Amino acid sequence: MESTSPSNFLHAIIARDLASGRVSEVVTRFPPEPNGYLHVGHAKSICLNFGLAQAFGGRCNLRFDDTNPGKESPEYVASIQEDVRWLGFEWSGPVRYASAYFQQFYDWAVHLVEQGHAYVCDLDAEQAREYRGTLTQPGRNSPCRERPVRENLDLLARMKAGEFDDGSRVLRAKIDMASPNMNLRDPILYRIRKLAHHQTGSDWCIYPTYDFAHGQEDAIEGITHSICTLEFEDHRPLYDWLLEHLPVPSRPRQYEFGRLNLNYTVTSKRKLGQLVDEGVVDGWDDPRLPTISGMRRRGFTPRAIRRFCDMIGVTRSDGVVDVAMLEHAIRDDLNENAPRAMCVLRPLKVVLTDYPADRTDWLTAPNHPTRAELGQRTLPFTRELYIDADDFREAASKKFKRLVLGKRVRLRNACVIEADEVVMGGDGAVAEVRAHTIADTIGKDPADGSKPRGVIHWVSATGGRRARVRLYDRLFHHQAPDRGENDFMALVNPDSLQLVSDAWIEPSLAEALPEQNFQFEREGYFVADRYEHSAEAPVFNRTIGLRDTWNDGP
Ligand code: ATP
Ligand code: MG
Repeated sequence: MESTSPSNFLHAIIARDLASGRVSEVVTRFPPEPNGYLHVGHAKSICLNFGLAQAFGGRCNLRFDDTNPGKESPEYVASIQEDVRWLGFEWSGPVRYASAYFQQFYDWAVHLVEQGHAYVCDLDAEQAREYRGTLTQPGRNSPCRERPVRENLDLLARMKAGEFDDGSRVLRAKIDMASPNMNLRDPILYRIRKLAHHQTGSDWCIYPTYDFAHGQEDAIEGITHSICTLEFEDHRPLYDWLLEHLPVPSRPRQYEFGRLNLNYTVTSKRKLGQLVDEGVVDGWDDPRLPTISGMRRRGFTPRAIRRFCDMIGVTRSDGVVDVAMLEHAIRDDLNENAPRAMCVLRPLKVVLTDYPADRTDWLTAPNHPTRAELGQRTLPFTRELYIDADDFREAASKKFKRLVLGKRVRLRNACVIEADEVVMGGDGAVAEVRAHTIADTIGKDPADGSKPRGVIHWVSATGGRRARVRLYDRLFHHQAPDRGENDFMALVNPDSLQLVSDAWIEPSLAEALPEQNFQFEREGYFVADRYEHSAEAPVFNRTIGLRDTWNDGP
């Protein structure tokens, strides 16, 4: 499977576990919290978890880690499922919810209390912080630590029954307040939160913490390899402690890998949510966001995203990946697979004075330069055409290999023309170029041996169609928008979106299906907008230019 290369260190661990018989089947899970849309970092985790299960003939669950109702919503539950499927993966069995295990978690909390391994603590947040100690100083035992089991059971039941206010009490594991690992200093297992939950409604007013819930979710589902990002490495002793002290049905193990960070990008649901909420972008699926739905609308393909995740590999260190690598993966995929078409973004009219007004020649053009199986299309060729305003100069040096007054150029997929004169508009700019065709030059050089200076794209003015085109650029002009002291909201690129309302497209493009990808020749890769494109009102989004213009030196 393309998504899991053998160089991935987890691949080697699983191969060993299967060979030694430690596990007989690989079961992984992708465990998002439904508190935002998935982003490119999650894509790495999805490719990893689903990819490993596929590589070893195992299973991968999709489980919502929905233990924190305050920030979660059904909208996110739905979008996450759609994104995982779009990336090309299917989970094993039903969608799972941590919230479906709430009663089991509670029963296990009671078990810990009964065994003397947990207690109800009345310290408020500030006192708890004080008692916790620091990295260099041990913590102190809470005055509630030696509460009798019976009193703890009673208080826990009353927490559950809603007798106490939010924040007034918590359930804590009784481990070691002097542990050098802060996560083992009597960590919180349950908090009181009088909040309705999107799955369980008002059934609960106490909710388990991530640390208490996660390993138990894994154990309930029979997960063999619980893969998470490196910041959870110090939580692993607690993960194991809980599994050891509870009568769980299986013993998962946690493994950590380095999260994906991309330069020029923010990958945090909270920060992405802020860009959405403050209207910097147009929703979670804005094509400028590194959300999976944003990348989709931008025209990225699932195959390119999977290939990118494969390219960056899986290691045990946190690094920053150059976003140019992601762009490279997209370009590579689209270069190979996207049909070619012509679109003029800044139309300048060319009138072919030797060509009758009532004549249309239908030319054929291949959809792909090297893949004949992608077929061909027909292009109307007429007296009035549009070329790009940047492709014409009245006078220019030899370096300008496009149309110049008195000189020749080849029209892509058509004939050679020569510019004769310009018609100026009221604004002092060239409004129209008058030119003539050179006979018998479709697919051939002119008979007199004069080679045209270059090749430019064009669209018939009378046979083409108007389109709206959105030119996207990177959302941040700073390579580390959220690093250190940087305020990412202040580093937004003001030119990340340019709207072109009167681009001109060849007629076959109007028939494009939403989400169909193209290379607009000489311009870049574009996609028919997923929601707004129609034959009557075509809309295209620029996925990426043909070349990386950000890394071009001066
Ligand atoms: P965020 O910080 O964006 O909210 P998160 O880690 O809180 O991310 P979760 O919904 O908890 O988001 O993540 C689901 C899974 O995706 C977790 O296993 C997490 O480790 C993984 N994940 C999240 N961000 C990244 C990333 N940048 N690179 C790799 N994996 C990631
Ligand atoms: Mg999170």
